Amino acid sequence: MRRVRAYVGLGANLGDAASALADAVRALASLPGVRLRGVSRLYATTPVGVEDQPDFRNAVVALDVPAGPDPATGALALLVALKSLERAFGRRARERWGPRELDLDLLVFGRARLTVERPPEGISLDRGKADRLLVVPHRDAAERLFVLAPLADLAPGLVPPGWGHTVDWARRRREAVEGIDAVRPIATWDAQARGWTLI
Ligand code: ATP
Ligand code: MG
Ligand code: MG
Repeated sequence: MRRVRAYVGLGANLGDAASALADAVRALASLPGVRLRGVSRLYATTPVGVEDQPDFRNAVVALDVPAGPDPATGALALLVALKSLERAFGRRARERWGPRELDLDLLVFGRARLTVERPPEGISLDRGKADRLLVVPHRDAAERLFVLAPLADLAPGLVPPGWGHTVDWARRRREAVEGIDAVRPIATWDAQARGWTLI
């Protein structure tokens, strides 16, 4: 089966967010046809957008996933799987950027640049969402240190389609804006134990 390298961003800030993210990494690795290729460090991050909420835990995973007959079909299939995992982890409808049990965002899907209509299963759980599109690479990834820092752990030299610069370049630029304390590494992934080891 042909596979594509995808990067998925994970975030949570309700309950035991670190163990939710560890459970999510294991669940992603168990998806049909999916191979786990890397797990970033775990970060404690200051909320962006809606600031009056608990700190987040964020990480990024590298996955090799079924390519599908074409990139749009392959990426939508992955999005549907991500949304269904969010639901399985107890995510409910709330305001965008507000607190959540688990957020799984498709950051990069191979060389694909996509803006496609989502199927019904892919529709957001959050309220008032006019946006019914899947956009890949994720539209705000380049402006978020909580995405760029873990992504740079795995793929510093990657130039996501349309960016025109590397992930690490973007990370350093955002670090200058947000400050180094916005995103703090707190654990590394232990592939044998399949869990976090606190730094
Ligand atoms: P943000 O997308 O700004 O990180 P969020 O993750 O809080 O916000 P969600 O409620 O998880 O928002 O999803 C918002 C909508 O964005 C979903 O309906 C989803 O279909 C859509 N979407 C578009 N592109 C992507 C993508 N690359 N990955 C995940 N969701 C996406
Ligand atoms: Mg998100
Ligand atoms: Mg999301």
